[in-house]
Amino acid sequence: KHEARGRVCFFDPGMDARAQARRQLERDMRRALMTAPEEFELHYQPVVEVATRRPTGFEALIRWRHPERGLVLPVEFIPLAEEMGLIVELGALALRRACAEAAGWVRPLRIAVNLSPAQFRSPRLIETVTAALSDNGLAPERLELEITEGVLLHDTEATMATLRRLKALGVRISMDDFGTGYSSLSYLRNFPFDKVKIDRAFVRDLETRSDDAAIVQAVTGLCERLAMTSTAEGVETEAQFRLLAGERCTEAQGYLFSRPIPASGIPALLARLALEAETAAAAAAAE
Ligand code: C2E
Ligand code: MG
Ligand code: MG
Ligand code: MG
Repeated sequence: KHEARGRVCFFDPGMDARAQARRQLERDMRRALMTAPEEFELHYQPVVEVATRRPTGFEALIRWRHPERGLVLPVEFIPLAEEMGLIVELGALALRRACAEAAGWVRPLRIAVNLSPAQFRSPRLIETVTAALSDNGLAPERLELEITEGVLLHDTEATMATLRRLKALGVRISMDDFGTGYSSLSYLRNFPFDKVKIDRAFVRDLETRSDDAAIVQAVTGLCERLAMTSTAEGVETEAQFRLLAGERCTEAQGYLFSRPIPASGIPALLARLALEAETAAAAAAAE
Protein backbone atom coordinates (compact mmCIF):
# COMPACT_ATOMS: atom_id res chain seq x y z
CA LYS A 1 0.00 0.00 0.00
CA HIS A 2 1.26 3.48 -0.90
CA GLU A 3 1.72 5.55 2.24
CA ALA A 4 1.87 9.36 2.31
CA ARG A 5 5.49 10.60 2.31
CA GLY A 6 6.95 11.33 5.70
CA ARG A 7 4.52 9.15 7.58
CA VAL A 8 6.06 6.43 9.63
CA CYS A 9 4.58 3.11 8.69
CA PHE A 10 4.98 0.10 10.92
CA PHE A 11 4.48 -3.28 9.40
CA ASP A 12 2.05 -5.21 11.51
CA PRO A 13 1.77 -8.81 10.29
CA GLY A 14 -1.24 -9.39 12.56
CA MET A 15 -3.11 -6.50 11.03
CA ASP A 16 -2.22 -7.62 7.54
CA ALA A 17 -3.53 -11.11 8.23
CA ARG A 18 -6.75 -9.67 9.66
CA ALA A 19 -7.24 -7.40 6.66
CA GLN A 20 -6.70 -10.36 4.34
CA ALA A 21 -9.12 -12.55 6.27
CA ARG A 22 -11.66 -9.79 6.09
CA ARG A 23 -11.26 -9.35 2.34
CA GLN A 24 -11.67 -13.09 1.93
CA LEU A 25 -14.83 -13.06 4.03
CA GLU A 26 -16.18 -10.21 1.87
CA ARG A 27 -15.53 -12.19 -1.32
CA ASP A 28 -17.15 -15.25 0.24
CA MET A 29 -20.21 -13.32 1.31
CA ARG A 30 -20.76 -11.92 -2.18
CA ARG A 31 -20.38 -15.41 -3.60
CA ALA A 32 -22.76 -16.95 -1.08
CA LEU A 33 -25.45 -14.32 -1.61
CA MET A 34 -25.26 -14.63 -5.41
CA THR A 35 -24.82 -18.34 -5.88
CA ALA A 36 -25.39 -20.20 -2.60
CA PRO A 37 -27.97 -18.41 -0.43
CA GLU A 38 -28.69 -21.73 1.31
CA GLU A 39 -25.42 -21.22 3.21
CA PHE A 40 -27.34 -18.67 5.30
CA GLU A 41 -29.65 -20.34 7.75
CA LEU A 42 -31.95 -19.26 10.51
CA HIS A 43 -31.78 -20.56 14.03
CA TYR A 44 -34.73 -20.09 16.32
CA GLN A 45 -34.85 -19.13 19.98
CA PRO A 46 -38.10 -19.40 21.93
CA VAL A 47 -39.70 -16.52 23.80
CA VAL A 48 -41.81 -17.62 26.77
CA GLU A 49 -44.60 -15.96 28.71
CA VAL A 50 -43.31 -15.39 32.23
CA ALA A 51 -46.61 -16.18 33.97
CA THR A 52 -47.02 -19.62 32.36
CA ARG A 53 -43.59 -20.43 30.89
CA ARG A 54 -45.39 -21.25 27.65
CA PRO A 55 -43.77 -20.17 24.38
CA THR A 56 -45.39 -17.24 22.57
CA GLY A 57 -43.04 -17.36 19.61
CA PHE A 58 -39.50 -17.58 18.30
CA GLU A 59 -36.85 -15.10 17.29
CA ALA A 60 -35.11 -15.91 14.01
CA LEU A 61 -31.34 -15.43 14.25
CA ILE A 62 -29.23 -15.70 11.14
CA ARG A 63 -26.12 -17.86 10.83
CA TRP A 64 -23.80 -18.53 7.92
CA ARG A 65 -22.81 -22.13 7.31
CA HIS A 66 -19.50 -21.32 5.66
CA PRO A 67 -18.00 -24.19 3.64
CA GLU A 68 -14.57 -23.87 5.31
CA ARG A 69 -15.15 -21.96 8.51
CA GLY A 70 -18.24 -23.77 9.75
CA LEU A 71 -20.98 -21.86 11.50
CA VAL A 72 -20.31 -18.10 11.46
CA LEU A 73 -22.24 -15.90 13.91
CA PRO A 74 -23.91 -12.61 12.96
CA VAL A 75 -21.43 -10.45 14.91
CA GLU A 76 -18.83 -11.54 12.33
CA PHE A 77 -20.78 -10.94 9.14
CA ILE A 78 -23.70 -8.55 9.78
CA PRO A 79 -21.44 -5.49 10.26
CA LEU A 80 -19.53 -6.54 7.15
CA ALA A 81 -22.75 -6.91 5.16
CA GLU A 82 -23.77 -3.45 6.37
CA GLU A 83 -20.50 -1.89 5.22
CA MET A 84 -20.63 -3.67 1.88
CA GLY A 85 -24.18 -2.58 1.18
CA LEU A 86 -25.37 -6.19 1.17
CA ILE A 87 -27.45 -6.03 4.34
CA VAL A 88 -30.69 -5.11 2.59
CA GLU A 89 -30.44 -8.22 0.42
CA LEU A 90 -29.32 -10.44 3.29
CA GLY A 91 -32.05 -9.08 5.54
CA ALA A 92 -34.70 -9.67 2.89
CA LEU A 93 -33.48 -13.25 2.55
CA ALA A 94 -33.81 -13.75 6.32
CA LEU A 95 -37.27 -12.20 6.36
CA ARG A 96 -38.56 -14.36 3.49
CA ARG A 97 -37.05 -17.51 4.98
CA ALA A 98 -38.46 -16.80 8.46
CA CYS A 99 -41.96 -16.19 7.09
CA ALA A 100 -41.81 -19.32 4.91
CA GLU A 101 -40.68 -21.52 7.79
CA ALA A 102 -43.12 -20.05 10.33
CA ALA A 103 -46.02 -20.50 7.89
CA GLY A 104 -45.33 -24.25 8.02
CA TRP A 105 -45.38 -24.58 11.81
CA VAL A 106 -48.12 -26.72 13.32
CA ARG A 107 -48.77 -24.12 16.01
CA PRO A 108 -49.32 -20.52 14.89
CA LEU A 109 -46.65 -19.04 17.16
CA ARG A 110 -45.13 -15.65 16.48
CA ILE A 111 -41.96 -15.14 14.54
CA ALA A 112 -39.65 -12.22 15.30
CA VAL A 113 -37.18 -10.99 12.67
CA ASN A 114 -34.43 -8.41 13.19
CA LEU A 115 -34.24 -5.42 10.87
CA SER A 116 -31.01 -3.49 10.55
CA PRO A 117 -31.18 0.32 10.20
CA ALA A 118 -30.27 0.27 6.47
CA GLN A 119 -32.99 -2.28 5.82
CA PHE A 120 -35.45 -0.13 7.69
CA ARG A 121 -34.55 2.91 5.59
CA SER A 122 -34.62 1.00 2.32
CA PRO A 123 -37.36 2.23 -0.04
CA ARG A 124 -38.25 -1.41 -0.71
CA LEU A 125 -38.99 -2.30 2.91
CA ILE A 126 -42.80 -2.20 2.79
CA GLU A 127 -42.84 -4.12 -0.48
CA THR A 128 -40.44 -6.74 0.92
CA VAL A 129 -42.48 -7.27 4.08
CA THR A 130 -45.77 -7.40 2.17
CA ALA A 131 -44.37 -9.99 -0.26
CA ALA A 132 -42.82 -12.11 2.52
CA LEU A 133 -46.24 -12.32 4.19
CA SER A 134 -48.42 -12.88 1.15
CA ASP A 135 -46.08 -15.23 -0.74
CA ASN A 136 -46.07 -17.53 2.27
CA GLY A 137 -49.62 -16.98 3.48
CA LEU A 138 -48.42 -15.83 6.90
CA ALA A 139 -50.92 -13.79 8.92
CA PRO A 140 -49.37 -10.34 9.54
CA GLU A 141 -50.07 -10.45 13.28
CA ARG A 142 -47.74 -13.43 13.58
CA LEU A 143 -44.77 -11.37 12.38
CA GLU A 144 -42.80 -9.16 14.75
CA LEU A 145 -40.13 -6.83 13.40
CA GLU A 146 -37.36 -5.96 15.83
CA ILE A 147 -35.68 -2.61 15.42
CA THR A 148 -33.00 -1.00 17.54
CA GLU A 149 -32.78 2.54 18.80
CA GLY A 150 -30.29 3.27 16.01
CA VAL A 151 -33.20 3.22 13.56
CA LEU A 152 -34.92 6.07 15.37
CA LEU A 153 -31.95 8.43 15.32
CA HIS A 154 -32.40 9.46 11.71
CA ASP A 155 -35.00 11.52 9.98
CA THR A 156 -37.80 11.27 12.49
CA GLU A 157 -40.56 12.20 10.05
CA ALA A 158 -39.62 9.52 7.52
CA THR A 159 -39.00 7.03 10.31
CA MET A 160 -42.42 7.61 11.82
CA ALA A 161 -44.04 7.29 8.40
CA THR A 162 -42.32 3.91 7.87
CA LEU A 163 -43.32 2.69 11.31
CA ARG A 164 -46.93 3.68 10.66
CA ARG A 165 -46.95 1.94 7.29
CA LEU A 166 -45.59 -1.23 8.87
CA LYS A 167 -48.23 -1.07 11.58
CA ALA A 168 -50.88 -0.59 8.90
CA LEU A 169 -49.80 -3.94 7.42
CA GLY A 170 -50.78 -5.52 10.72
CA VAL A 171 -47.30 -6.60 11.84
CA ARG A 172 -45.96 -5.97 15.34
CA ILE A 173 -43.00 -3.77 16.09
CA SER A 174 -40.54 -4.40 18.90
CA MET A 175 -37.86 -2.12 20.27
CA ASP A 176 -34.81 -4.39 20.56
CA ASP A 177 -31.89 -4.03 22.98
CA PHE A 178 -33.72 -1.33 24.92
CA GLY A 179 -31.48 0.72 27.16
CA THR A 180 -28.20 0.28 25.31
CA GLY A 181 -28.44 2.87 22.57
CA TYR A 182 -29.41 6.49 22.86
CA SER A 183 -32.52 5.48 24.72
CA SER A 184 -35.05 8.15 24.90
CA LEU A 185 -38.42 7.93 26.53
CA SER A 186 -39.85 10.09 23.79
CA TYR A 187 -39.35 7.15 21.39
CA LEU A 188 -41.82 5.20 23.46
CA ARG A 189 -44.19 8.12 23.65
CA ASN A 190 -44.08 9.05 19.98
CA PHE A 191 -44.49 5.58 18.62
CA PRO A 192 -46.61 2.83 20.07
CA PHE A 193 -44.29 -0.17 20.01
CA ASP A 194 -45.96 -3.46 20.74
CA LYS A 195 -42.99 -4.72 22.70
CA VAL A 196 -39.86 -3.53 24.43
CA LYS A 197 -36.98 -5.99 24.71
CA ILE A 198 -34.89 -5.19 27.76
CA ASP A 199 -31.25 -5.66 26.86
CA ARG A 200 -29.28 -8.52 28.32
CA ALA A 201 -26.95 -5.99 29.98
CA PHE A 202 -29.66 -5.26 32.58
CA VAL A 203 -30.49 -8.92 33.16
CA ARG A 204 -27.01 -10.38 33.54
CA ASP A 205 -26.28 -9.10 37.06
CA LEU A 206 -29.86 -8.88 38.26
CA GLU A 207 -29.13 -11.14 41.23
CA THR A 208 -26.40 -8.89 42.61
CA ARG A 209 -27.13 -5.39 41.34
CA SER A 210 -30.09 -3.56 42.82
CA ASP A 211 -29.66 -0.73 40.29
CA ASP A 212 -30.35 -3.17 37.47
CA ALA A 213 -33.43 -4.39 39.29
CA ALA A 214 -34.58 -0.76 39.61
CA ILE A 215 -34.09 -0.19 35.87
CA VAL A 216 -35.95 -3.37 34.97
CA GLN A 217 -38.77 -2.37 37.30
CA ALA A 218 -38.98 1.08 35.73
CA VAL A 219 -39.12 -0.33 32.19
CA THR A 220 -41.70 -3.03 32.95
CA GLY A 221 -43.84 -0.47 34.79
CA LEU A 222 -43.64 1.89 31.83
CA CYS A 223 -44.55 -0.92 29.44
CA GLU A 224 -47.53 -1.83 31.55
CA ARG A 225 -48.81 1.74 31.59
CA LEU A 226 -48.23 2.14 27.85
CA ALA A 227 -49.85 -1.24 27.06
CA MET A 228 -46.66 -2.76 25.66
CA THR A 229 -45.22 -6.20 26.28
CA SER A 230 -41.88 -6.28 28.10
CA THR A 231 -39.46 -9.04 27.17
CA ALA A 232 -36.23 -9.69 29.04
CA GLU A 233 -33.31 -10.86 26.89
CA GLY A 234 -30.48 -13.12 27.96
CA VAL A 235 -32.21 -14.92 30.83
CA GLU A 236 -29.80 -17.66 31.84
CA THR A 237 -30.72 -18.61 35.40
CA GLU A 238 -33.81 -19.55 37.34
CA ALA A 239 -32.94 -16.81 39.88
CA GLN A 240 -32.97 -14.16 37.13
CA PHE A 241 -36.27 -15.53 35.89
CA ARG A 242 -37.84 -15.28 39.37
CA LEU A 243 -36.64 -11.72 39.82
CA LEU A 244 -38.06 -10.79 36.41
CA ALA A 245 -41.38 -12.37 37.34
CA GLY A 246 -41.31 -10.29 40.54
CA GLU A 247 -40.80 -7.16 38.43
CA ARG A 248 -43.85 -8.07 36.32
CA CYS A 249 -41.89 -8.65 33.15
CA THR A 250 -44.24 -10.19 30.55
CA GLU A 251 -41.91 -12.42 28.56
CA ALA A 252 -38.45 -13.92 28.82
CA GLN A 253 -35.91 -15.21 26.33
CA GLY A 254 -32.55 -16.79 26.98
CA TYR A 255 -30.41 -19.87 27.41
CA LEU A 256 -32.49 -20.87 30.47
CA PHE A 257 -35.16 -22.01 28.01
CA SER A 258 -33.06 -22.74 24.96
CA ARG A 259 -30.20 -21.55 22.83
CA PRO A 260 -31.09 -20.66 19.26
CA ILE A 261 -31.58 -23.98 17.41
CA PRO A 262 -32.08 -25.07 13.80
CA ALA A 263 -35.68 -25.30 12.53
CA SER A 264 -35.56 -29.10 12.63
CA GLY A 265 -35.27 -29.01 16.42
CA ILE A 266 -38.45 -27.00 17.00
CA PRO A 267 -40.95 -29.85 17.55
CA ALA A 268 -38.78 -31.52 20.21
CA LEU A 269 -38.08 -28.16 21.84
CA LEU A 270 -41.81 -27.36 22.01
CA ALA A 271 -42.47 -30.73 23.62
CA ARG A 272 -39.81 -30.07 26.27
CA LEU A 273 -41.07 -26.54 26.97
CA ALA A 274 -44.66 -27.81 27.31
CA LEU A 275 -43.51 -30.36 29.86
CA GLU A 276 -41.54 -27.74 31.79
CA ALA A 277 -44.53 -25.37 31.81
CA GLU A 278 -46.77 -28.17 33.16
CA THR A 279 -44.25 -29.06 35.85
CA ALA A 280 -43.96 -25.40 36.89
CA ALA A 281 -47.75 -25.04 37.00
CA ALA A 282 -48.09 -28.20 39.12
CA ALA A 283 -45.40 -26.95 41.50
CA ALA A 284 -47.13 -23.56 41.81
CA ALA A 285 -50.49 -25.25 42.49
CA ALA A 286 -48.94 -27.42 45.22
CA GLU A 287 -47.48 -24.39 47.04
P1 C2E B 1 -30.40 -9.63 19.11
O1 C2E B 1 -31.50 -9.40 18.14
O2 C2E B 1 -30.41 -8.79 20.35
O3 C2E B 1 -30.45 -11.18 19.46
C1 C2E B 1 -30.15 -11.73 20.72
C2 C2E B 1 -28.76 -12.30 20.78
O4 C2E B 1 -28.49 -12.76 22.10
C3 C2E B 1 -28.56 -13.51 19.88
O5 C2E B 1 -27.20 -13.50 19.44
C4 C2E B 1 -28.79 -14.67 20.84
O6 C2E B 1 -28.17 -15.88 20.43
C5 C2E B 1 -28.14 -14.12 22.08
N1 C2E B 1 -28.69 -14.74 23.30
C6 C2E B 1 -29.94 -15.20 23.50
N2 C2E B 1 -30.10 -15.66 24.76
C7 C2E B 1 -28.92 -15.49 25.38
C8 C2E B 1 -28.45 -15.77 26.72
O7 C2E B 1 -29.17 -16.27 27.58
N3 C2E B 1 -27.16 -15.44 26.99
C9 C2E B 1 -26.34 -14.87 26.06
N4 C2E B 1 -25.09 -14.61 26.40
N5 C2E B 1 -26.75 -14.59 24.79
C10 C2E B 1 -28.02 -14.89 24.46
P2 C2E B 1 -26.83 -13.80 17.92
O8 C2E B 1 -27.70 -14.87 17.36
O9 C2E B 1 -25.35 -13.97 17.84
O10 C2E B 1 -27.25 -12.44 17.19
C11 C2E B 1 -26.60 -11.24 17.48
C12 C2E B 1 -27.27 -10.07 16.81
O11 C2E B 1 -27.16 -10.15 15.40
C13 C2E B 1 -28.75 -9.97 17.11
O12 C2E B 1 -28.96 -9.41 18.40
C14 C2E B 1 -29.20 -9.09 15.97
O13 C2E B 1 -28.97 -7.73 16.28
C15 C2E B 1 -28.28 -9.51 14.84
N6 C2E B 1 -29.01 -10.41 13.93
C16 C2E B 1 -29.24 -11.75 14.05
N7 C2E B 1 -29.95 -12.21 13.00
C17 C2E B 1 -30.21 -11.14 12.20
C18 C2E B 1 -30.93 -10.97 10.97
O14 C2E B 1 -31.52 -11.90 10.39
N8 C2E B 1 -30.95 -9.70 10.44
C19 C2E B 1 -30.35 -8.64 11.06
N9 C2E B 1 -30.43 -7.43 10.49
N10 C2E B 1 -29.70 -8.77 12.23
C20 C2E B 1 -29.61 -10.01 12.80
MG1 MG C 1 -33.45 -9.23 18.24
MG1 MG D 1 -31.91 -8.00 21.32
MG1 MG E 1 -29.15 -7.81 22.10
